[in-house]
Amino acid sequence: DHVANQIAAGEVVQRPASVIKELLENSIDAKAGKIQVIIKDAGKTLIQIIDNGVGMSNTDSRMSFERHATSKIKIADDLFSLKTKGFRGEALASIAAIAHVELKTKHEDDEIGSCIKVEGSKVVAQDPCVTPKGTCISVKNLFYNIPARRNFLKSDNVESRHIIDEFQRVALAHPDISFSLIHNSSELFQLPASNYRQRITNIFGGKTNEKLVPVEEETEIVKISGFVGKPEFAKKSRGEQFFFVNDRFIKSPYLNHAVQASFEGLLKDRSYPSYFLYLNVDPKSIDINIHPTKTEIKFDDEHSLYAILKSAIKHSLGQFNV
Ligand code: ADP
Ligand code: MG
Repeated sequence: DHVANQIAAGEVVQRPASVIKELLENSIDAKAGKIQVIIKDAGKTLIQIIDNGVGMSNTDSRMSFERHATSKIKIADDLFSLKTKGFRGEALASIAAIAHVELKTKHEDDEIGSCIKVEGSKVVAQDPCVTPKGTCISVKNLFYNIPARRNFLKSDNVESRHIIDEFQRVALAHPDISFSLIHNSSELFQLPASNYRQRITNIFGGKTNEKLVPVEEETEIVKISGFVGKPEFAKKSRGEQFFFVNDRFIKSPYLNHAVQASFEGLLKDRSYPSYFLYLNVDPKSIDINIHPTKTEIKFDDEHSLYAILKSAIKHSLGQFNV
């Protein structure tokens, strides 16, 4: 079982950034309004996430490290609606198989919280503790027991770039939640709860605001909102391009092509417009479970989606006379 845990861990956890993604999603599922991320040495030494969400009872806190101990699928139907981000019940079990994990949590209905330490899937301590409502989870010494994986990690610069990418994606998807990120005691982000436009500006800098053109469209199969960057601000690289489907960041070369096509005639050669596009679709019309890291997605009707997206952006660009 220990070996099974380690193997499964490799699927879910490729690098420190994957741990951060899973933990952030758990905090969001727990309805946190404020989430703090603290890392040391690009997450190789420490990843700590503190949230003010619903927390866990004493029993649930211990259960949470067992594989498929998800509290999120209550009826089979839920599998098709997936209103929460987690649905495999693998993340905590996987992380605990390959790191030193300390969990402090208190459910809102409880007087006293619990503190659990898990090392390589073994619970090494469990005690009651005084802690605020919510959850604080510390993941230390990632891959301490898999030297090959640990050695395979890239430089701190590269790993922290991956962390920042993951953090930004989650923060852009949830502007109503306040987020902060501290790396080796320096504060990289301090994002107050706000709206989409303000969140984008807080992440990408004060000047972003005047570069954005709003995109809005609603049809039977999709509701689109968000922003595209004006063509004159298009970049030489693809840095600021984001799709979110039902509040999850996703990669879609196909939809990316639709955006690029909607700028036809407006861009210089080999330049890429910024975009922050939020698509809402019926959860039954997508399949997210094609990869454990959940950044790829299959749409039932991607041709229609392509056409709707392209025309919505064209319309916005036309309206704003760019
Ligand atoms: P999943 O998210 O797929 O359910 P995880 O392994 O990520 O699986 O988490 C297992 C369970 O632990 C969750 O279903 C949830 O009940 C609980 N949990 C994890 N993180 C938190 C958190 N930050 N706040 C409250 N509960 C949490
Ligand atoms: Mg989860």
